[in-house]
Amino acid sequence: MPAYCPIAGTCHTLLAFPFRMPDDPEILGRCPDCDESISRVWLLVEYETDDGDTGLWAECPDCDDVVAPE
Ligand SMILES: [Zn+2]
Repeated sequence: MPAYCPIAGTCHTLLAFPFRMPDDPEILGRCPDCDESISRVWLLVEYETDDGDTGLWAECPDCDDVVAPE
């Protein structure tokens, strides 16, 4: 356990966070296959559904596959 850490639980939470390049703060959703958060930089297509909702297709950085973020 790091000596500089006053609260072990907080440190563990921070350490568990995946180390990666800073993501765009705007998260589209999660990959239905692997549960990876997909940010807007991975957005491929944005379209309007029959219901008037906005549908999304994005590339999952983990699966390297095109998915609909949930
Ligand atoms: Zn995925």
